[in-house]
Amino acid sequence: MAEFAIKGWCPGALRPMESGDGWVVRIRPRLAELTAAQALGLAKAALAYGNGVIDLTARANVQLRGVTQVSHKPLIADLDDLGLMDSDVRAESQRNVVISPFWQGDETAVLAAELTQALRHGPDLPSKFGYGIDLGPQRVLADTSCDIRLERAATGELILRADGAAGGQAVTLDTAVPEALRMAAWFAASGGVMQGRGRMAGHHKGDMPFDTSIVPAPLACAAAPGMTPQGALVGFEFGSLRAEVLADLASLAPLLRITPWRMVLLLGAALPTHPALITASDDPRLRVVACTGAPACPQALQDTRALARRLAPFVPQGKRLHVSGCAKGCAHPSPADLTLSATPQGFALLPKARAGGLGPVLAPQDITFETLGKAL
Ligand code: SF4
Repeated sequence: MAEFAIKGWCPGALRPMESGDGWVVRIRPRLAELTAAQALGLAKAALAYGNGVIDLTARANVQLRGVTQVSHKPLIADLDDLGLMDSDVRAESQRNVVISPFWQGDETAVLAAELTQALRHGPDLPSKFGYGIDLGPQRVLADTSCDIRLERAATGELILRADGAAGGQAVTLDTAVPEALRMAAWFAASGGVMQGRGRMAGHHKGDMPFDTSIVPAPLACAAAPGMTPQGALVGFEFGSLRAEVLADLASLAPLLRITPWRMVLLLGAALPTHPALITASDDPRLRVVACTGAPACPQALQDTRALARRLAPFVPQGKRLHVSGCAKGCAHPSPADLTLSATPQGFALLPKARAGGLGPVLAPQDITFETLGKAL
């Protein structure tokens, strides 16, 4: 298995991460929303202080790439002016809350604001530890990484559920955040954090001091580009877009919601026509996932996106191909129908597996539609 570095923390705006194309600066918009003015400002900042490449993350964050040591300080000043900054690294890293992009009404906004405030004084938890607020009649964040979840029960009441638990306990608007913090404190006190890392799923084994009996709401179908009741949902190849595209989106809707599916919900907007946008649910580019790869990631052993782009038209509908630049598998940590995991010699072919396993290795040029035909 190839070696890769485990950082154990997530980059932020105040604590950027070094990459092959400069610093990666991760911004966490409050409520995962950008006003049109913020989106335009962010697009300008990406061009002025970075290389203009913007990644959307699986936690509904926005990453600017290609920032330098020199450009970081003026970038932070601009982000602060846009209302996109936290006061310090701790506040930034603990404000790890994913919200259903389809929320309507006040409950979600109220709980998100209260939780964000409370986290400033919550227990110190690993930066990957996060919260989900998913209050619709069907759950949309089930596949999103969240350790503590505020959800709707099948019967409609609010529940608090630990990730991995079959059910949750009833809470109210008043008790939801205090109980979520109590669960976080229990996680820390019961040995959930080891060497700065730890996640809820797998930690509890039926021994939690929380009710787990209330069944959560059913799962929604996977989100896909197209029209939704709230507006147009648009995707991007590999969840990445140029700053110029973000500026274009800012002219289409007053509010842009960043989703954990690396798509953007244009609130109240009709489906746009734009060459850089994926607007159809059957677009083959949605069937491939590829991390940044070489040369932008220093750990990458191969170029990933050229291969993924070439293979996308041959991936059958309903199947998922993951091309990973190393064994870490950042872009798709769970198993895919076929994972191509980079090695120094080429790509290991790993059907129904995650990156980093052992399998036959082929050079990129030898991986063809026939290869996919046999493996998928
Ligand atoms: S999986 Fe891709 S992005 Fe993640 S460390 Fe490896 S090469 Fe870099």
